[in-house]
Amino acid sequence: MTTFHSTRSTTDSLTAKQAIRKGIADDGGLFVTDALGQSKVDIANLAGRPYQDIAFDVLHALLPDFGDEELKGCIAAAYGDQWSDERITPLEEVGDDYVLELFRGPTSAFKDVALQILPRFMARTTPEGGDADEKIMILTATSGDTGKAALAGFADAPGTAITVFYPQGKVSQVQELQMTTQTGANVNVCAVEGNFDDAQTAVKTIFADHELAERLAGQHHVALSSANSINVGRLVPQVVYYFSAYAQLLERQVINVGDEVEFVVPTGNFGDILAGYYAKMLGLPVKHLIVASDRNNVLFDFLTTGTYNRQRPFFQTISPSMDILVSSNLERMLYYMSDGDTRLITMLMNDLKQWGAYEVPETLLARIRHLFGCGWADEDQVRQMIADCWERNRYVIDPHTACAWYVAQQMPRDPLTPRVVLATASPYKFPRVVNEALGLDATGTDFACMDVLAEATGTVPPAALRGLETAQVRFDAVSSVAGMTDVVESAAAAL
Ligand SMILES: *Cc1c(COP(=O)(O)O)cnc(C)c1O
Repeated sequence: MTTFHSTRSTTDSLTAKQAIRKGIADDGGLFVTDALGQSKVDIANLAGRPYQDIAFDVLHALLPDFGDEELKGCIAAAYGDQWSDERITPLEEVGDDYVLELFRGPTSAFKDVALQILPRFMARTTPEGGDADEKIMILTATSGDTGKAALAGFADAPGTAITVFYPQGKVSQVQELQMTTQTGANVNVCAVEGNFDDAQTAVKTIFADHELAERLAGQHHVALSSANSINVGRLVPQVVYYFSAYAQLLERQVINVGDEVEFVVPTGNFGDILAGYYAKMLGLPVKHLIVASDRNNVLFDFLTTGTYNRQRPFFQTISPSMDILVSSNLERMLYYMSDGDTRLITMLMNDLKQWGAYEVPETLLARIRHLFGCGWADEDQVRQMIADCWERNRYVIDPHTACAWYVAQQMPRDPLTPRVVLATASPYKFPRVVNEALGLDATGTDFACMDVLAEATGTVPPAALRGLETAQVRFDAVSSVAGMTDVVESAAAAL
């Protein structure tokens, strides 16, 4: 039986469903299972299989307490025609490398891969004998991308509701409209007077408010939960596209079964690249996983020195989804790489909390570096890469993908090992920055920028993004930080 416990202790014994419903362990650790890697995914027959079939094999290995029919139902609903390519995550040949496009979902960012299926998982986690009327309300503070992907995933999902807070005036025009025009009877969006950290801190306080939890449960049958990327249910769907990339390389006869592949991943919270590590443990021949950071290069310093130090200036860059100083999912990698040393993990995380830094033993660092490479790009390099990739390959990349593209181009090339760069957002999510990089007009609205970009490159903006200009705005509420609890309670009462 596969059970889950915290990265910081082995006392818990939860099923996958319980771990998904709960989100984070009581001691602050992340849920992991020691069964990971005991059953492998068969790579001999990957070529030619649809994404949905590969997803079934992978998710079946990772979440064994979901029934076959349950899993198939979740997969069919999550990876259907809301994706603009039937391969879901298509692989494109770009120059000497390959780009895995993870942005073909409804919100044009890679977070759709996980957030289209998490609500379907969540709806199937109601405990037997529990309150059958109980609704899970997802609460999220967002700096941009996560909020919209979560809204799109949870909109009208049975048994769930969602409230998203974003910092007023601190997200782009497209990002704000993506959220405020969201349809669905169970969604709520509210701007907050403050910055992202203020909103995030307030959300954490709301989660810790036991009296509020009792009122919500007693009066409205509502339990709060998080769609944060530390939830196992958000992590495991991302393992699938590593196998899908391998399947597509096999199909193109770039590799034979068993050949090794390298992945270069634009990294923030370490969820995307950690999924690559899980794929390797499930039997995928992964030679190296390359962490690509932006100017917030805390992971680069960690992987080169063994010291993780969050006490450093924070840079707001043109790749905002990678502007992170504490990469939460790193804790899971440290757990597995240290052979499940919960005492070490507890100590490191205490050091991080108390001193803002920790240092891993040298032997552990050596093991990590054997698999994980790293690099980073500053903003000028990112702009340069967007231009360079377009000029050389006639392929437009967004600023996040450009960090990874830069890191890939800097690495020595091993002609025997294909390289796959993960593309995490559509360039049309960041049309102003992309236009500036390409020397195009960037003076109008985001929508004018999209049109200029389309005209100049012969590419087509995703309809959902271009259509935002005329979409109806449903939410215009603004709350003070102190008022956020009331917003949550009213939303729960209105369900
Ligand atoms: C969230 C995000 C990332 C970072 O992914 P992690 O899993 O947090 O490492 C990179 N690019 C884009 C566009 C994102 O939205």
